[in-house]
Order: sequence, then C-alpha cells, then structure tokens
Amino acid sequence: MTSAQPSLGQSILDRADLLAQHSDMEGGLTCAFLTPAHAQAQAQLVRWMEEAGMSVRIDAIGNVIGRYAADPAEADPKVLMTGSHFDTVRNGGRYDGRLGILLPIAVVGALRDAGIRLPYHFEVIAFAEEEGLRFKTSFLASSVLAGRFDPALLDRVDADGITMGAALAAAGFPGSGSIDALRAAAVDPATLAGFVEVHIEQGPVLLHRGLPLGIVTQIAGSSRFQVRVEGLASHAGTTPMDMRRDAATGAAEMILLVEERCGQVPTLVGTVGQLQVPDGSSNVIPAACTFSMDIRAGEDGIREAAIADIVAGIEKIAARRALQVSVERVTPVNNAPCARWLMDQFAAVLKKRGLETFELPSGAGHDAMMMQRITDVAMLFVRCGNGGISHNPLETITEDDARQAAEVFVDFLRHFRPKGG
Ligand SMILES: [Zn+2]
Repeated sequence: MTSAQPSLGQSILDRADLLAQHSDMEGGLTCAFLTPAHAQAQAQLVRWMEEAGMSVRIDAIGNVIGRYAADPAEADPKVLMTGSHFDTVRNGGRYDGRLGILLPIAVVGALRDAGIRLPYHFEVIAFAEEEGLRFKTSFLASSVLAGRFDPALLDRVDADGITMGAALAAAGFPGSGSIDALRAAAVDPATLAGFVEVHIEQGPVLLHRGLPLGIVTQIAGSSRFQVRVEGLASHAGTTPMDMRRDAATGAAEMILLVEERCGQVPTLVGTVGQLQVPDGSSNVIPAACTFSMDIRAGEDGIREAAIADIVAGIEKIAARRALQVSVERVTPVNNAPCARWLMDQFAAVLKKRGLETFELPSGAGHDAMMMQRITDVAMLFVRCGNGGISHNPLETITEDDARQAAEVFVDFLRHFRPKGG
C-alpha cells in the first residue's frame, strides 16, 4: 500500500490521458455536458469504477456514483463521499476535476486488492457538470446532489437552441430530465460523514513553495458587480478637456482603483472582465460606460473590506468628475470554509509521512463548495507544473505527486474517524 506501489501514480496519469481522448474537438480536450464525448467519458468512468470493485449508479443529472461498500460487520455505516467533475472548459486540461475522480478510483482498486474494507461506505462521484460551458450554469451537477437544483434551468438553451430539459431527456438518465427525478437525486445529509475533494491547485503556490500537496482552508466566495458610469455626450472636437464629463475616463480611473486596492492583500483579487462604452462613437465623448467587477478573497472579511473601500472610492471619483454612478451587486457567493476536523485528519497523514502541512485557500470554485451546504468538506490540493497553469492544454502534474496524493488519500481513508468519533 505504500511506496512499494510506484504504478499507482502512473496509472492515474495514464487514465487521465485515456479519458482525454473523448473530446468534442480535434487536437484538444473539450468535454461539454451531454455531448457524445461526455457520454463516452461517462461510460469509461463506469467501467473503471466497476473494475475497482464498486457498485455504480448514474443519477438524474448524469453523475456517476461508485460505492465501495462498508465492511458488512459495520452496523449502521455512514457515507464518506469524494469526487470532482469530468466536464471541461473549452480546450482545457486533463487533470482539472478528473484527478479528483481517477485518484479515488485507483485508491479503491488498491484497497480492494489489499483486501481492506472500510467501516463506512466510500462513494466516488464523477460530477457530470461543473464548468458551465454548455448552459452557463455553475455547480450544476453538485447542486442536484445537494438538493439545490434550480428547475428553471431546464428551460435554459445552449448555443444551438437545445434546452437542458431536452438534452437530459435524450441522454436517457433515470427520470428523463423530470424535475421530480432531479429532486429525488438529492442525497440525505443525515447519511453523510463528509465530502472530501482532491483537485489540482490550478495556481502556482505549491509549485513555488516546492510542496506536492496542500490542505485547503476554504473555497473563496466571490462578489460580482455591474457598474454603470454616466457622464455627458458632447462633441469630441469642440469640448475643451476641462469641460468634459467623460464616463469612460472616469471608469478607467475606477478600474485602476480596483487593481490598486486588490493588490494590497495576498489572497485578495479583483478583475474587470467586461468593459463597454454603450453606443459609443469615435467622435463623441462617452456618455456612459459600464464594467463588471469580480472580487474574491480567502476570507469574507477581507473581501468585504475591499468592496467597501472600492465602492467608496468609485463614488469619490464620480463626484470629482461630475459623473453619476451606480454599483449593482449580483449574486454574491460566500466563502465555503473547510471543516477543521477533516483538515486535521489530512494534516496528521501528511505529518506522519514527513510532508509539510501547508494550508492555503482556494481562489477557484469547486464542487466541494456546493457540497459544503449539506455536509462538512475538505480539499487536498495537488501541485501543478508549468507555472501552475490550468484551464489550458499545458496543465500538468507529475507521476510522483499523483502517487503521493494517492498514498495520502489511502492513509486518510484507513484512519478516517467521523466527526467526534
Ligand atoms: Zn475543477
């Protein structure tokens, strides 16, 4: 079970390569929800789970759920869940999400081969959709499991005008995309012992520190805003510079403020990803300018403090430039803290193996964020190569890091104690 099995890491990487062969595009990996490539990847995952000794079911949204049943001697076993997503972004990487499925499958195979049963049901979930590529959703598949599915999504259409409801019906999952079946696919939180997710870091922190693994403290929430700045349209040739009320130059100053303020705290990040001058012309001083703001931080308090400063700063800039401004907040997502008792169990394993117990927040959202609404969660991050790049074909991890992560996971499962246990 320990370093005598060097093939564990390589087998995980090999399977990531095999799974990446099912793609919606030539010469790269795209696996969008309910495409032919998605169905092939799903079928492949079913086979691998069965080969590892799990009983497998597919739920109403297309999640593949493999169960490694508890030791029959156990009276009332709870369910410890793990998993991640197998869909990808367009031209994405082969480890994002998939590592968190393939690694536990390999681990279950190793446990089965060694004749080890666990005192709880261990379920590996291959979430069918996380990235939102086809229907612009977020955490679609885990929202079903967590009992948070929004029925209005069934009417949402993809780029070809196909509704999600029709796509689900065609896929032939249990319930054929009915709202009742999607509701019934929710798990009962009372049966759960927790949810743990292995994921590539998707950033450079572990790489720069020379560490293979890290324990996630929390998954950063995000706050998004739409800002609208209004000035006065006037002639570009006749209006002197000191008499202008230019919405675009005001917005430019505001965007620089976002950059400056968010650069002051290590885990804080701010992004203006959309910027428009509606109905703008090259010879008219902009009457309006709109932009998006996405602000995230490792802690809710840090994020909220930055938002307060930025909004106050935006209003000050507007007042000085005689502009009107509205800052509209859209769907804030709060941080999902990881459970200390689960983090401690990962830390104990790392320590025992002579690895540094390094903790870091996750700046990206993950399925664990949705699962945290119904159970305690923890995440184990695995180092990325190539500067930490992800959502990109250059995404990579090493065989040795995959092996170490798998061995840590085996130890974690073998020593797992339920909360308070
Ligand atoms: Zn992911």
